[in-house]
Amino acid sequence: MLPIGQVHTLCDMASDESRSLPRRARLMDGGPFKCPCCRLMTLETSASFEICPECGWEDDGQDDFNADKVLGGPNGLESLTAARERYAAYIAESADPDSVTRGGEGSWWSTAKLVIEDSGEKRPRQAE
Ligand SMILES: [Zn+2]
Repeated sequence: MLPIGQVHTLCDMASDESRSLPRRARLMDGGPFKCPCCRLMTLETSASFEICPECGWEDDGQDDFNADKVLGGPNGLESLTAARERYAAYIAESADPDSVTRGGEGSWWSTAKLVIEDSGEKRPRQAE
């Protein structure tokens, strides 16, 4: 499982009713877009504070030009470079069947659902 640092963020995500809509119906802005952290095509919008279902990075607009900076926004005290390294180490060590790279719905999202279940939060409906 992918380590999760921001439980409040995943709870916000779980209460988002748009999660229940079919993914195709939500791709209206030219997406999917490449996540600046894991670099997979997992985002439906760009620089719109969407959380990547694969790595958990919240896309606040940070990218290569300022990857080493800690912006202190939704990604807390982690720079994009540090998040990339954490994700790369995780993927190198695991054979996570939930990873997008293995056809899953995303390592972060599958882990987030388990955390929500354990905490007694209402389980989100499947996106598809
Ligand atoms: Zn990502």
